Amino acid sequence: MKNNFPNSFAHIRLEAITRNIKKIKERTGGKKILSVVKCDAYRHGAAEVSKHIEEHIDWLAVATVDEGIELRMKGIKKPILIFGVPTYDNAAAYITHNLTATISHVTHFSILMDGTGYHLNFDTGMGRLGFSPEQREEVRTLAVMNQRLVCKGIYSHYATADDPGSDFATLQHKRFKSLLNSFSEVPLVHMSNTGAATNYPEFNHFDMVRTGLGMLGYNSGETRHHWLEHALTWKSVATQVRPIKKGDVVSYSSTWSCPEDGFLATIPVGYGDGIPRSLSNKLYVTIDEKQYPQVGNVTMDYIMVFLGDDKVPVGAEVTLLGGTSWNAYNWAEAAQTNVHEIFTNITPRVDKRYSND
Ligand SMILES: *Cc1c(COP(=O)(O)O)cnc(C)c1O
Repeated sequence: MKNNFPNSFAHIRLEAITRNIKKIKERTGGKKILSVVKCDAYRHGAAEVSKHIEEHIDWLAVATVDEGIELRMKGIKKPILIFGVPTYDNAAAYITHNLTATISHVTHFSILMDGTGYHLNFDTGMGRLGFSPEQREEVRTLAVMNQRLVCKGIYSHYATADDPGSDFATLQHKRFKSLLNSFSEVPLVHMSNTGAATNYPEFNHFDMVRTGLGMLGYNSGETRHHWLEHALTWKSVATQVRPIKKGDVVSYSSTWSCPEDGFLATIPVGYGDGIPRSLSNKLYVTIDEKQYPQVGNVTMDYIMVFLGDDKVPVGAEVTLLGGTSWNAYNWAEAAQTNVHEIFTNITPRVDKRYSND
């Protein structure tokens, strides 16, 4: 969908992303950086973000082959790792578009076409994709036998690095380290995500750190790393402002009734744009640096905001997320989810505008 007349826009500061990458690199002792731009860079715009950061990073990664193809179509040159699984359907695309595969199952060795580059994925405790550490010798043998493919790296993924002090993260780290003995000739080793890079600076981060949320200025879990800069601010405008009387009710199911005479603003964004319905009667937004409560149920296309005595003008700028308003941590906490989901919920209805600051 093309946004000729968008109701809201996400303003993304590209240089903030570059600064975050540099800080994460510093914190991990200058390791290589793989930027995770799956799901359209958590809706920050994969191509735009990748283009801007390309010279400061070493690798990119996305979840699906289609996401990789889109980046190549838009002129991205950096190596692109696909986290997802190769199939007979998509195997040729790795060659055509110069994408690096992940081999996480023995069948993948025969599925991929001659000359395809790949990283091995070991499951050290995530319980999602990857070989079990017990398969190390079998996998090593397959890698040696399949010289028609090019082994470029080996990785694993933490399940609990979002919070500091996790014994399980330490255990995963140990498991991964010990299986590396069988793969000493593999040129690139990586395991740390944003959580591991920010919460566990003392860990061995091997050759490269993978960061998605961190480069966008956030981390998941309880600790908040304020040395990261939030890159995105989501704004809309008040499309209608009208008086409201004490006792008047607002929105579907009439969950809110007005406590005192005042003004009500209607903002043209709803759960169809990415505002979780679970934030109904919880969210605060900012107009002219002042916070106002969102009231009544979030609808597909609109939210309503109680202004008290403030009769703000129609067309007034409303900050929904970031800047002087609630940030994505506040949203995630109130919606009982993680910051990743708050961002991936943002739909293509929301226009994206970029600046180089
Ligand atoms: C999504 C993902 C990441 C990035 O995680 P962040 O918490 O955003 O840094 C890293 N590695 C893998 C395998 C992933 O799927």
